[in-house]
Amino acid sequence: MTTESKRILLVEDEKAIRDVVSAYLEREGYWVTPAADGQVAIDQFSKSRFDLVVLDLMLPKVPGEQVCRTVRDTSDVPIIMLTAKGELEDRVAGLELGADDYLVKPFSPRELVARVRALLRRARVDEEPQRNRLVYGGLEIDNVAHKVVLSGEQLDLTASEFKLLTTLARYPGRVYSRMELVEKVLGYDFEGYERTVDSHVKNLRAKLGDDPRRPTFIWTVHGVGYRFEPPQPSAESPGA
Ligand code: CA
Repeated sequence: MTTESKRILLVEDEKAIRDVVSAYLEREGYWVTPAADGQVAIDQFSKSRFDLVVLDLMLPKVPGEQVCRTVRDTSDVPIIMLTAKGELEDRVAGLELGADDYLVKPFSPRELVARVRALLRRARVDEEPQRNRLVYGGLEIDNVAHKVVLSGEQLDLTASEFKLLTTLARYPGRVYSRMELVEKVLGYDFEGYERTVDSHVKNLRAKLGDDPRRPTFIWTVHGVGYRFEPPQPSAESPGA
């Protein structure tokens, strides 16, 4: 797999973390531009094209939230947010600001590299024009016909369940907060409706045959929300 010329903006004020993360990413063949504060990050982003941004939340000069917002004003570039341990509200806020993923410090650089690779792969998939049909293992989602087939059987989903499933499945691995799902799926913006998302997820899982404790498709991200993961290919028989 080639990662040639993929450019990453790494925004982190702690030099030790910046150096380690840079080294790992460069070893993978990525081109890394470091930024030690939020203002430098915004300046760099306005000057050059980047394929992905790794963004620390607690930054001098301009906070990470503001950097995220500024980037999102002009770009859909994938953003991975770095948050300190226990900053749950920050994580949720980060996702709502438009970050695609987050890692809690201390994190393993290997894990970060894996997330970067996954997000860049997904960004490439997004560029493909034909995304009307999503296929993950035995699950087929037809966005035009509004049809979902699991292992050859058509599922009877409500409009909300269909919307919830397509929202999650369009970006495998991306974590969605309940609030985001409320807005995307139900179109409400009241906090009280976050519980409604939980009950839609519960019903959708029942129809997908998903065990909440060991799901095949829809995973709970504790305290935050949900994400879709494609089933492991090893479960499929070769040549089938
Ligand atoms: Ca920091």
